[in-house]
Amino acid sequence: MKKLLILSGKGGTGKTTLAGAFVRLGRVGAFADCDVDAPNLHLLYLDLPTPKTSDYYGMGVPEIDTAICNGCGICEAHCRFHAIEVQKGYAYCDSFACEGCGLCEYVCPQHAIKMMPNVAGRMMLFTSTKEEVFGPEGKISNSHSNDALVIMENVAARSRVVFSSAELKMGSGTSGKLVSEVKKNLNDSADEKETLAIIDGSPGIGCPVIASITGTDMVLIVAEPSISGISDMQRLVETAAFFGVQIAICVNKADTNLERTEDVKVFADLNNIPFLGCIPYDENVLVATNSGKSIVDLGGPAADAITTIFSQVKEYL
Ligand code: SF4
Ligand code: SF4
Repeated sequence: MKKLLILSGKGGTGKTTLAGAFVRLGRVGAFADCDVDAPNLHLLYLDLPTPKTSDYYGMGVPEIDTAICNGCGICEAHCRFHAIEVQKGYAYCDSFACEGCGLCEYVCPQHAIKMMPNVAGRMMLFTSTKEEVFGPEGKISNSHSNDALVIMENVAARSRVVFSSAELKMGSGTSGKLVSEVKKNLNDSADEKETLAIIDGSPGIGCPVIASITGTDMVLIVAEPSISGISDMQRLVETAAFFGVQIAICVNKADTNLERTEDVKVFADLNNIPFLGCIPYDENVLVATNSGKSIVDLGGPAADAITTIFSQVKEYL
């Protein structure tokens, strides 16, 4: 199964719009939302059944036995995150500052600290059939999507749909590990005959993005035509290139700044990165998002451009 990861330098660039549209166009039976801080791909697929959920355990948190603690302060002196301090003769841990390294437990001479399991988020696995999620084969409500129909007709009829997602609890800091769990859930549950998986990544270049990139076959970067958008894109390219994964670029809302869009094309050209196309600003995107639909359900210029980009992505993969 080939894995396509869709990334952008920051939120609101159109990454989830593309991911949701690609899933729809390809009737993709394996997809995941790795934006665990703010998952929203499921909002484009409101017909999904109630997911199977499970707790996600991040790093442990110290539990301090005040009957044993003598307030010596050794734990406070060793904690480099300043997450534990002695107050009124007892050690107290600030769970928001704690990184769960467990050093305080190790150094406490009284053995007053025990690292306890900590629920840091929730994992969700939606399972359904293609008919339920996408409707009957070959049907799409967008009259402009002839290309989409062709693509769909070429996709062999496979019935199972698996969607893996998760949400991190506020203040939890192990998003990279949770992203790895989301991908593992997808791998373990997807139909082995499925040929393509679409992964909606986290914005930025931090730990969850790196965890998202690992093991993928291709990264599609959705760039924004602005100075900051180009800077974000360049940083993402460097990150993805470090992992040796195939990279492609497209621009969303390209017509809002033609000069910067041209800069993105030049950058792609100079760096031998396939430039897969421009998506114009289209109010239908907002209409689709607000009604829990994919843009390809509504049609319009953005849907047409995304359909063309998806065809190219499949060729590269
Ligand atoms: S090192 Fe142990 S005994 Fe000392 S303050 Fe911390 S928890 Fe209490
Ligand atoms: S687990 Fe680590 S970060 Fe948390 S309080 Fe103990 S030493 Fe500090």
